[in-house]
Amino acid sequence: MTSTDISTLLSPVSLGSVHLRNRVFVPGHTTNFGHANSPTGRLAAYHGERARGGVGLIVTEGIRVHPTSAGRHISLGSFDDASVPAYEAVARAVQTHGTKLFAQLLHTGRQANGDATRTAAWSPGTTPWAAGTHIPHAMGRTDIATVVRAFGAAARRMRQAGFDGVEIHLGHGHLIEQFLSPFTNTRTDAYGGSPDGRLRFAREVLTEVFAQAPGLPTGIRVSADEFLPGGLTPPDMVGIVDVLRREFPLLYVHVSHAAYHGSYSLGTQMADMSFRHAQFRHHAALFKREIPALPVLAVCRLDSLPEAAALVAADEADLVGLARPHIADPYLVRRAEEGRPHDVRSCLACNQGCVGRLEANLPIACVVNPEVGAEREWAALRAAPPAPVRRVLVVGGGPAGMEAALAAHRAGHEVTLAEARPALGGRISVAATVPGRERLGLMVTDLARELAGRAVDVRLGERVTADDLLPGGRLDGFDDVVVATGARPGRRELPGGPPVFDILETVSALRDPHSPLRGTVLVRDDQGTWAAASVAEALAREGVRVHMVSPTASFASKITTYSKLALTSRMGELGIRSHLMRDVAAADGDTVVLRDTLCGHTEELTGVTAVVDVGLPVADDTLYRELDARTDAPRVHVVGDANAPRTALEAGYEGRLAGTFLTDAVTGAGLLADTH
Ligand code: ADP
Repeated sequence: MTSTDISTLLSPVSLGSVHLRNRVFVPGHTTNFGHANSPTGRLAAYHGERARGGVGLIVTEGIRVHPTSAGRHISLGSFDDASVPAYEAVARAVQTHGTKLFAQLLHTGRQANGDATRTAAWSPGTTPWAAGTHIPHAMGRTDIATVVRAFGAAARRMRQAGFDGVEIHLGHGHLIEQFLSPFTNTRTDAYGGSPDGRLRFAREVLTEVFAQAPGLPTGIRVSADEFLPGGLTPPDMVGIVDVLRREFPLLYVHVSHAAYHGSYSLGTQMADMSFRHAQFRHHAALFKREIPALPVLAVCRLDSLPEAAALVAADEADLVGLARPHIADPYLVRRAEEGRPHDVRSCLACNQGCVGRLEANLPIACVVNPEVGAEREWAALRAAPPAPVRRVLVVGGGPAGMEAALAAHRAGHEVTLAEARPALGGRISVAATVPGRERLGLMVTDLARELAGRAVDVRLGERVTADDLLPGGRLDGFDDVVVATGARPGRRELPGGPPVFDILETVSALRDPHSPLRGTVLVRDDQGTWAAASVAEALAREGVRVHMVSPTASFASKITTYSKLALTSRMGELGIRSHLMRDVAAADGDTVVLRDTLCGHTEELTGVTAVVDVGLPVADDTLYRELDARTDAPRVHVVGDANAPRTALEAGYEGRLAGTFLTDAVTGAGLLADTH
């Protein structure tokens, strides 16, 4: 990739009357930063930060146009004119930095979760989007007219609020797509029955939008492929868009993919690191080729500016969207413009902090960006007068320790980082060696590069003990010690049964041509995270017959649905069996007895050659306990897995808090908790 290619991406472009300073945009993505269905100061600060970072266009997350789509109060909505001032504040926060702002308008249709509001979801029909979800109400003609008017009214309000345009969401299996698709629209009235009938609702919505907000630049977002049997295919969608753009003065088509359906389809929508990067770029390219008159916006797993530039250079897209990379690093564009691309914090496409927290109705976070969503609070705290310089020792070079060391150095302290192993990274660098999980390694590379660029004294191969730090010890003299020593893997032996391997032994075995993990392997998963799922998948790819056993009622309970649906589809192809609500009761030779955790019923699995135990890890907190028990030790802070075994998300966050404030990390966490 040459710099010329990047410079085209970063050069101005006009879509109709909308002049953009570059061709990079932040596509709509749910943040859960709303409150009472309105944008908050937190949301304005979040988008404002990305605008400051240089992006050309920001499209808001889906703004629900009607209360039947509202669901949770932390989503965005615009149901009446009272919502205008809050949107004005977002527009000001963004436009002041020279970035244009579009409002994405949607109705989610059958997947609206009406639990909070006791509202039925509306849809063309009565089929739920996934097993166990709500049965929607099949919309009558009055309902349809109501939603059509609501789209128009919301567009009018966005113009009032000063937005530069709107994007009508015709994709992602939301309500309009539910009408467009033969998979979800089985109506026999004027709104179904034929391609033209299924198009009628979209036409009425666009007619109303252009009538109520005349002259407002209006684009559409579509799903090129529903990835559903009998669903819309790329040629179908090109045909639909071609009809619409002849009838309406559309500004652009934003080409995404997927339907909201509890299958592989939804698993593609926020393609995680198990997908190839830019895996869906051919969709945008198809629209560009087939409808050259209509500007095309491309999206999904475009991980970096050079990759985005490649699409523009190949004339496959006019604008390129990077959502998760902008969560990870709001200053992507500015760093490139200033010739500092190496300072970028790379998105891991792990879907943990962003997508993963949405299901729990939590605001988004990010494994590699501990400050996301609290931009104002961190800035205010940093603005405080600098603390006196302290001598800080960080023990442990995993995510928690590296973040702590960097943060303490940024705060002006003298920092030493001691890591027992010959390399930085801790557990995440081990996890990154599992096939399909390699992108995790970017976190280590980025943190290590930043450490190398700062005057942090990094000592590898140096194991620290409490005696070292006490008066007269070889490391006496530090004011603060941040203990980031991680955790040991959980492991339960099975006397008389098959050999047991913990997660670290399993990961090394994956690289061993003479691996003892062959034949039939039982993976005990008490965590529900990627630890078990990723090694199970890797083993199955090596030809191992894998059984996953978990005491929980749901499979991989800590992995987001958006990743899990793709994961389970791969696992299905690999023939991995799962045994939920089961525990290992006993083992004898190659027979393992599983017990139903509900009723105690037992069953036997025979021919088991080995057991992988992904049991609960144990904090490696000896150093912390020993220092904590002394009155003559330096001030001690414990962070990450050594504090309590969790994930890199919490480790990095705690590390940054401790390093920045050198105070009780828990107090800091409270300070930065939920803000509006
Ligand atoms: P976290 O996710 O909390 O950062 P990790 O397990 O990823 O935890 O990293 C912990 C790191 O601490 C490992 O790289 C480990 O080698 C290192 N470590 C553990 N004990 C010591 C010690 N006493 N001295 C130096 N490094 C240590």
